[in-house]
Amino acid sequence: MRYCKRCVLPSTKHGVVFDDEGICSACRSVEKKHKIDWGARAEALHRICDQVRGKNGQVYDCLVPVSGGKDSMYQVYMMSQVYKLKTAAVIIVPDLQTSEGILNLNSLVENFGVDLIKISVRPSTLQKIRRIALLKVGNPNYAEHRVVFASVARTALFYDIPLVVWGEDIGVEFGGRVSKSSSQEGSAEDLIDNDLFKDVGFTELLADAIPDRDLFFYTHPDKQELKRRNIRSIYLGYFHWWDGLKHFQIAQKFGFIPRLAGPLSGNVINYDNLDEKLCEIHLWFKFLKHGFWRATDECCYYIWNGRMTRAEAVKLVNEHQYQFPKEYLPEFLEYHQLTHQLFEETMEKFRNLNIWHKVKGEWRLKVELR
Ligand SMILES: [Zn+2]
Repeated sequence: MRYCKRCVLPSTKHGVVFDDEGICSACRSVEKKHKIDWGARAEALHRICDQVRGKNGQVYDCLVPVSGGKDSMYQVYMMSQVYKLKTAAVIIVPDLQTSEGILNLNSLVENFGVDLIKISVRPSTLQKIRRIALLKVGNPNYAEHRVVFASVARTALFYDIPLVVWGEDIGVEFGGRVSKSSSQEGSAEDLIDNDLFKDVGFTELLADAIPDRDLFFYTHPDKQELKRRNIRSIYLGYFHWWDGLKHFQIAQKFGFIPRLAGPLSGNVINYDNLDEKLCEIHLWFKFLKHGFWRATDECCYYIWNGRMTRAEAVKLVNEHQYQFPKEYLPEFLEYHQLTHQLFEETMEKFRNLNIWHKVKGEWRLKVELR
């Protein structure tokens, strides 16, 4: 494990490679982004929007998947206010929403004048799948990743909405595997194949624990069917520079509130990932497996967007990353019907001993960020 010399990303991140100068592919991808003609990209998005605006009768011109976070507010703002499309937002309602998440969703609907389509998948099935994914592969949010991509595609098909607007292309942002179509024209059609799905196959994971007929919203519709119906998926991040802090500032003008009690444990900022309560511990498992999580991700974005020096980031990451996300632990245990003991055992099962060791009785990374 080593760290990028420019940002603080470790070499353990999937898809990231380091060059001879010790600079990671995400930083190189930021360099490339500086050379992009963003005006031309915005024009290209204008043309795409012109093709769909007002052509769909009473139905929507575009569909924006939202979580209630700052980025989804920015996406809805751009599509409804800047590009002036008749926009529907769609949310897969989290089982454990925060009060800030609920208030922010209400602000989104009120202030942008859009309709919000809510999909609540049956909690008992979701809970069962999350528990299996947690215990077997240490990836409790696997179920949500499936549901988000599959149910958004199903919604677009169901309502015949010609344009689906996703946020950032994680492959491009981090210099990971970039699909040909996305690097060329911002297409999100290969989204279902992206890195989130690499751990283990879904069918293999469930191993008949859930009847197939209960998996409608977990199963992506046929890509050919989307193509035949002329439903297009794009990344807004391909057409406009992605900048979380800017999105937060825009969202605030439309009533968005950050986490009122301040940043959660392990976090540096208080305005990201504040809409639900199950993701933090999911990401703690990423820390156990790959040696980084929230603080690294948040500081990297600040560095890439020119808002933080590496030295500041090193300090912040080292101060925050060992803080266990204790805030939502009781609810996490209750939701997954876990005892403390089973949870502890599961954490240790997924701790990567290639990168962790004990120092004076405390777990620390073998290679500390410097
Ligand atoms: Zn880097």
